[in-house]
Amino acid sequence: MTSPQWLDSWSADDGAARVRTLFTEAFGDDGAPDGVWSAPGRVNLIGEHTDYNAGLALPVALPHRTYVALRSRTDGLVRLASAQAPDERWETALDEVTPGVTHGWGAYVAGVAWALRAAGHEVSGFDAVVDSCVPFGAGLSSSAALECAVAVALDAVHSLGLAADDAGRAELVTACVRAENEIAGAPTGGMDQAASLRCSAGHALLLDCRPGLTALESAERVPFDLAAAGLTLLVVDTRAEHALVDGQYAQRRAACEQAADILGVASLREIAPDELDVALDKLGGTEDAEVLRRRVRHVVTEIARTAEFANLVRAGRATEVGPLMNASHASLRDDYEVSAHELDLVVEAALGAGALGARMTGGGFGGSAIALVRAADVDGVTAAVQTAFDEAGLAAPGFLLAPPSDPAR
Ligand code: ADP
Ligand code: MG
Repeated sequence: MTSPQWLDSWSADDGAARVRTLFTEAFGDDGAPDGVWSAPGRVNLIGEHTDYNAGLALPVALPHRTYVALRSRTDGLVRLASAQAPDERWETALDEVTPGVTHGWGAYVAGVAWALRAAGHEVSGFDAVVDSCVPFGAGLSSSAALECAVAVALDAVHSLGLAADDAGRAELVTACVRAENEIAGAPTGGMDQAASLRCSAGHALLLDCRPGLTALESAERVPFDLAAAGLTLLVVDTRAEHALVDGQYAQRRAACEQAADILGVASLREIAPDELDVALDKLGGTEDAEVLRRRVRHVVTEIARTAEFANLVRAGRATEVGPLMNASHASLRDDYEVSAHELDLVVEAALGAGALGARMTGGGFGGSAIALVRAADVDGVTAAVQTAFDEAGLAAPGFLLAPPSDPAR
């Protein structure tokens, strides 16, 4: 058996040293950065494809973070370099950042400055470099980690004061979501950015994505002390190619909107679990309706599972959440149809080796899966997943440990 590939997180000192060095290499002639900021990737425990349905999600921040060294400029230019895109130095005038026009990885960065400006904050151009140990495109939200690290950096250099409290952080979330949706052009919900900015170490973040809620109403930090419960959250980056992801994501969103229209509700959140059967009947029995019925069933049951998961964790019964994770996976696989062979394989192998629960996490079609594992079983579960991939002739997956970690700072 090939030995498992562990994707370790960096210490804060290591991350800062990396971006300081990179900054000197990229822009050193003009002096040092104003400072170093970082933000975590996230992994969602449960509540998938629910954020854009005004539902519930329950992410935790990863110990894996994106580091940014940034220095503001007075001439309105944005100049960027990333260790993850060594051949793609990026430069533009901040005034020229525009939806539909700005492209490339720098859109995630410059988009945040654009969105903060659009919200009425004074933000100037800047030089910035990026380095990250958040796996790229693995469903662990390297994009939000990048946006949120930039958001807290700009907040600091312009003394906006938003990162200082949770309500201000909720405003930064909005700016990062706008950057991703409107400038980078990725139609994501708001979970990733909220997780990166508003999570807290040792806690999961119960997000309520109904529009119009106050910051206080929209997020609750639920103590989730895995170590005390003798548990480990294992993340498996399947490294599966996810082709067609964007189109599929947009289709799922459109199906949910269509179903909500037919059902006469603003969002699927309004359908309570005990109203589900009536709602499904109302969608009709045609073949097209059958697809909508399955999409709706996923969303409504997933929101209920997320509430139940949070209740168990609040009650100190984290060891009992496994069946909810397994049911979530089955629902995403069969009703929402966003799983992938590799994700199913992780879940099957992990459960076979004694995981308490396992599921795909993130948008799907590849990306990552999680398993909740008793600490003593981590090696066995890891080996089982590794063996399953070997035997299926698949490229080796990456393994991460995910103790709930700190937010952007
Ligand atoms: P995920 O968020 O699941 O990792 P996405 O497709 O949403 O995947 O975001 C990945 C994109 O974000 C990359 O293609 C790149 O454009 C940008 N990105 C994220 N992190 C970095 C980084 N450290 N350097 C440069 N670009 C990055
Ligand atoms: Mg992303």
